[in-house]
Amino acid sequence: MLSYSDLKLGLTKLGLTDRKVIAHASLKAFGQIEGGAETMLRILLASVRGVIMPTFTYKTMVTPQVGPPNNGITYGRDQDLNKMAEPFHADMPVDPTMGILPEILRKHPLAKRSFHPIQSFAGINADETINLQTIYNPLAPIGALAEQDGWVLLLGVDHTVNTSIHYAEKLAGRRQFVRWGLTMDRVVECPGFPGDSSGFNEIVPEIEKFVRRVRIGEAVVQAVPLKPLIETVTAIIKEYPPALLCQREDCERCREIRTR
Ligand SMILES: [Zn+2]
Repeated sequence: MLSYSDLKLGLTKLGLTDRKVIAHASLKAFGQIEGGAETMLRILLASVRGVIMPTFTYKTMVTPQVGPPNNGITYGRDQDLNKMAEPFHADMPVDPTMGILPEILRKHPLAKRSFHPIQSFAGINADETINLQTIYNPLAPIGALAEQDGWVLLLGVDHTVNTSIHYAEKLAGRRQFVRWGLTMDRVVECPGFPGDSSGFNEIVPEIEKFVRRVRIGEAVVQAVPLKPLIETVTAIIKEYPPALLCQREDCERCREIRTR
């Protein structure tokens, strides 16, 4: 079982105590952690200057009968899911597919959470980045972190959950999509919804030279500086527009981007 000091030692080796980070985590990858997710969050907060995490809520999403064309979606498809959609509220739990750590962060007394009905972020000591999110620029907190020389921290996860690559895709001019999120009083149109991330591990060899990596228990923890990550992704997409797209035939968003 991993103790507080095992984890603290590992994270300290990454040298990020004066940096703000966007973190993504799978605690299962670490095996047993003494004190569980709460311990992990405490150590994370003690090892960096500030942290944000996506606290996305996909169960607010509804699909209309009709909408804008070339949107990587089949309109009218998920009518049964529409009936089960729940309106976003500030205390809505994070989607379970994002893991337990962002949910623990969201519930922390010092955490601030943004109000985007699908793509909210929560953070501690990073209010100025959280506050920048708008419905038109949902990934603005990542841009703000990059400006502050922030880092991405991948705790036992790979680049398929690295939301910052989506931010770079947008900067590179890649097509963004429109989705719809339910709130208490209406359905909100949410532009700037990103594509699919299942091809993102293609970035690994391109960024190897500036990745820091430690092994903690059974997990690999990687830290990637945002600025060079964003520059690299942007350059790759500009040079080869289908870069980082997945190969699945049934992936509507990757297919839509490819046809452009
Ligand atoms: Zn795809």
